[in-house]
Amino acid sequence: MSGRQQRDSFRTRAIHIGNEIDPATGAVVPPIHVASTFRQPGAGKWGEFDYSRSGNPTRTNLQNTLASLEGGCGALAFSSGMAAIHCVTMLLRSGDHVVAGCDLYGGAYRLLHKICNRSGIGVSLVDMTDPDAVAAAMNDNTKLVWAETIGNPRLTIPDLAALAAIAHQRGARIGVDNTFGTPALIRPLEHGIDIVMHSATKYLGGHSDCLGGTLAVSDQNLLDELYFIQNSTGAVLDPMSCFLVARGLKTLDLRIRAQSASALKIAEWLSTHSRVKEVLYPGLNSHPQHPLASRLFGGGFGAMVTFELDGSIDQTAKACEATRLFHLAVSLGAVESLIEQPATMSHASYDAEDRARFGISDGLIRLSVGLESFEDLQADLDNAIRQ
Ligand SMILES: *Cc1c(COP(=O)(O)O)cnc(C)c1O
Repeated sequence: MSGRQQRDSFRTRAIHIGNEIDPATGAVVPPIHVASTFRQPGAGKWGEFDYSRSGNPTRTNLQNTLASLEGGCGALAFSSGMAAIHCVTMLLRSGDHVVAGCDLYGGAYRLLHKICNRSGIGVSLVDMTDPDAVAAAMNDNTKLVWAETIGNPRLTIPDLAALAAIAHQRGARIGVDNTFGTPALIRPLEHGIDIVMHSATKYLGGHSDCLGGTLAVSDQNLLDELYFIQNSTGAVLDPMSCFLVARGLKTLDLRIRAQSASALKIAEWLSTHSRVKEVLYPGLNSHPQHPLASRLFGGGFGAMVTFELDGSIDQTAKACEATRLFHLAVSLGAVESLIEQPATMSHASYDAEDRARFGISDGLIRLSVGLESFEDLQADLDNAIRQ
């Protein structure tokens, strides 16, 4: 893409890059290409597209939008967020070691501990907010550091540039899951991170109506390696879902700013609530990494809020079941607000000891703040918490 296009603002690029006018018809929204195969110019001659696992015009459009929004040289779209993380782990070989955050998405925890271990890949979980602990956990076999820009469920914020320096000094790559952060608020490639990953199922799609995952990088060789793995293993995003994610991206900036603003108000209000023990939100002064978060994030601190209720596992479950607008469900990042109990839902795949060790207590509640009005969400939560 041209330099002039890259100088357009994030919001403008989200609408125009990858959404070029269809030359055949003038349509302002590119058609969805459902073809699985493409007629070739001759035997052994290849056009831009030949077979949809290897490349599809609708997927290419989405990948071009994503690469522009992340500030990378290219992006890949996968059938789910887990497929995208799995692709990164397939860069590793038997005997390699991964250092990952202890505030980790439950599915990533399971992939590392129950699947990657079968191929002889070791994993150590460390507190990513402590660069010294990360450095200490690295050994000569460490080939990958994996963190989340906003940890899950305790919403910890790692110092990306510090972690990138540690990884690179030891000859390892560093990837981050930016699902909670979104490229509208934070762009990890700008901080020296090698691979940025998203569950597009969440904010990028934004409407709870499709699954998808993405990777973006700023190094062409790394992009080629990841593409080779993706094409060889096949977990590509289908054209219809590519369209839905591309449509979601057009309003991403608007959505996440509005949702972050409501999340901050909810976090501030919960902090004053008599039934609430602790509120974890990077936008609050009380958050341990608030100054760092203020430097890294622009436009908001995300729309996930975690808090600890003063109550038992059953009382916490009851509060989660008592909301009217907040739906009791895993997932996050869409226009409708969701509520869940990490100990019994999103982080149930953690071993019980690891849950205790990493502060995933029975009273913890995680909110995904949607686009409903703040006042309605506040009244709904207040009613549920008081029961
Ligand atoms: C949902 C999620 C994933 C996994 O994505 P899927 O699309 O469900 O496969 C990974 N990381 C985070 C932070 C998530 O929220």
